[in-house]
Amino acid sequence: MHLIRFEWKGRVSVGIARGEMLVDMEGVMDSLAKRLSWESDFPRGSMRRFLDLCLQPGAADATAEAIANWGNSDNPQLLFHPAEECRILAPIHDPEKIICVGLNYADHATEGGRKPPEFPVVFAKYPNCIVGPNDKVILPSQYSQQVDYEAELAVIIGRYTKEVPEEKAYEHIAGFTILNDVTARDFQRQDGQWVRGKSCDTFAPIGPAMVTLDEIGDPHNLSITMHVNGEERQSSNTSEMIFKIPFLVSYLSRTMTLVPGDIISTGTPPGVGVFRQPPVFLQPGDIMEARIEKIGSLINVTDGRSVH
Ligand code: MG
Repeated sequence: MHLIRFEWKGRVSVGIARGEMLVDMEGVMDSLAKRLSWESDFPRGSMRRFLDLCLQPGAADATAEAIANWGNSDNPQLLFHPAEECRILAPIHDPEKIICVGLNYADHATEGGRKPPEFPVVFAKYPNCIVGPNDKVILPSQYSQQVDYEAELAVIIGRYTKEVPEEKAYEHIAGFTILNDVTARDFQRQDGQWVRGKSCDTFAPIGPAMVTLDEIGDPHNLSITMHVNGEERQSSNTSEMIFKIPFLVSYLSRTMTLVPGDIISTGTPPGVGVFRQPPVFLQPGDIMEARIEKIGSLINVTDGRSVH
């Protein structure tokens, strides 16, 4: 399934992409919520609300029943919208945590003159960074002249996860998406640690969909690329990851409880701008396209920021 968030005529919904049509699931969710006497603090149009609902006792049976009826156009709970009338949004807009793993492709570590790490290099981005497909990435040009792209496979957690063993890690994953780990290299270097350079507003475009494991198959066998203005800058395969996804989920869950909607971004392959000869950084108007097999394409244009 390609689970999405989208806006149609000013209303934000969680839905499923099915070819040229988007299935609006808010009506189904409302119906299930009523049936299960379930209330949520999350608003309509929140993927966390959807993930939370899926965890409720009885939700699986009720959802299966709803899915069985999806082909029935007489079902008043369903709304189908032509995709061209909808604006696709970030699949998760309000995660509790965005956890990133640095230097997780051996050849990317090497291009930066570092040895592959012995343990995962873990850092954070914050929800202020999140934008959706086709949204602008704002370059804070009055403060940074070295903004860079990083195409990454991101995991979205689907269950409350504490000290989960590696062999059960996939049971805790709701799906996968693309995250562009946009980075101000000069901030990274000035600070000595990475949070500020990674967490400028708009520095985490994600999307276009959250794709479930049954469609992904092996998440360590996906081609991953980044094109800037049509030029290929990164091209690799997720098989090159040093620390694999089950290990990362298990490792992180030893020390922090992962909750539904949390994002784990699994690192970027070689080809980032800072290590090109000569280095190349993003300029206003650049078109970034991060593409991962079986997920799709995440396109964002950069924009300069006016001094205020
Ligand atoms: Mg990164």
